[in-house]
Amino acid sequence: MSDIRWKTFWLGFSVLVVALIIWAMSSLITALIFLCVSLLAFIGKHLYWLYQLQTWLKSPNLNALPDGSGAWAIVFSALFQHHRQNIRTEAELGAALDGFQQATNALPDGIVVLNHRDEIEWCNPPAELLLGLDLNKDANQPIQNFVRYAQFIQYLQSKNYKEPVTVKSIRNRETTLQIQLITFGTAQKLLICRDISAQEKIDTMRRDFIANVSHELRTPLTVVGGFLETLIDTEGAVTDSTKNYFDLMISQTGRMRLIIEDLLTLSRIESNNEVPSITAINMSTLLKMILNDANGLSNGKHNITLNVEESLDIKGNREELLSAFTNLVSNAVRYTPANGKISIDWQLKNHQAVFSVTDSGIGIEEQYIARLTERFYRVDNGRSRETGGTGLGLAIVKHILTRHKAKLEIKSTLGKGSTFSIIFPQSRTIGYASKEVA
Ligand code: ADP
Repeated sequence: MSDIRWKTFWLGFSVLVVALIIWAMSSLITALIFLCVSLLAFIGKHLYWLYQLQTWLKSPNLNALPDGSGAWAIVFSALFQHHRQNIRTEAELGAALDGFQQATNALPDGIVVLNHRDEIEWCNPPAELLLGLDLNKDANQPIQNFVRYAQFIQYLQSKNYKEPVTVKSIRNRETTLQIQLITFGTAQKLLICRDISAQEKIDTMRRDFIANVSHELRTPLTVVGGFLETLIDTEGAVTDSTKNYFDLMISQTGRMRLIIEDLLTLSRIESNNEVPSITAINMSTLLKMILNDANGLSNGKHNITLNVEESLDIKGNREELLSAFTNLVSNAVRYTPANGKISIDWQLKNHQAVFSVTDSGIGIEEQYIARLTERFYRVDNGRSRETGGTGLGLAIVKHILTRHKAKLEIKSTLGKGSTFSIIFPQSRTIGYASKEVA
């Protein structure tokens, strides 16, 4: 720019000097005429290049850019550099975008970019295929108009996108889709859609296999157990020296029966994500029943207390929740030495209904806690078997809770005791008033 200023300054200065010389050598009028003509020529030249610039800007082509003269040569040269740089940057961005689109197109998962109003901004071909979208027609339309699964709409409105949602494809009933939303930027969302039919098939085969094997084993085991009991009850059939063996066989068949029952329960719960028959549960009555059972199991060896917030009830499947609560209470009894304390609590904490069982038992080391809900995971195999455990109790609890959208929280200190809490979402809570039960 400083070049332009100097050039203009020198031009003006030269015209002025020449005008002064003309004035000195001729007359003032001639000098003024010279000045006017120079000014007109100056303005004319600028108008000419301005017109050239305007014409070029209508269809800016690098090869057609005028050269310009004087100060305009500098302007056009700067414009040339700038435009060339823009073309380069544009080409680089285009190549990057192409690469990104090729990569997303090659992904087996469907990807849809949604704006802050949940309208489709962009999607890749697998998303078009899996969700039946057509980017050319459906862009800028709300995603709910095309992905109309009730579970998805609920998921979208919930604003809680931690877990994906699974739906059966409307377009093909054989296909199961898993849809996950991820928020990014200011309020945009990325929708990732995956075909999980193959995985589902394997899971179903595994579940069916376990269910079938368990079912097939149940009858022969019942027969063996029955005969063993008959033998032991028959006079003279079992001698004193072999009675121990028979007792052991009876207790082991009993254990196997428990494992089979638990495996069948687990596969039944796993095979259906929906909770059957949800009703309002009278928790006070249910918990008193659980307390009675716990006292029976403990056989007076523990001090068991119940603390209930009366009228705080929940909606759920009574049978399943009873099984989950009983599991935690029976674990507390089994893993707490005689004279220990067990407290069963049903309270509202942070607007959420919480069932918790606190014991002064053996406790669990921190490192094992995360694995407790795995099937057949036991911290101490010997103790679990000794107390009649199958290693499947907490796995069943976890599945029941997932179906009820509740979560399990475990706090424990080795040698001091544990607290197992079931936290229900607000949506399952019915109402409450407070009352203590001894
Ligand atoms: P199990 O039939 O072996 O009790 P669970 O699935 O119910 O199986 O529990 C898994 C493991 O968690 C148990 O083997 C035990 O090691 C541990 N556990 C469960 N509850 C308690 C508790 N209240 N105190 C100490 N350890 C526990």
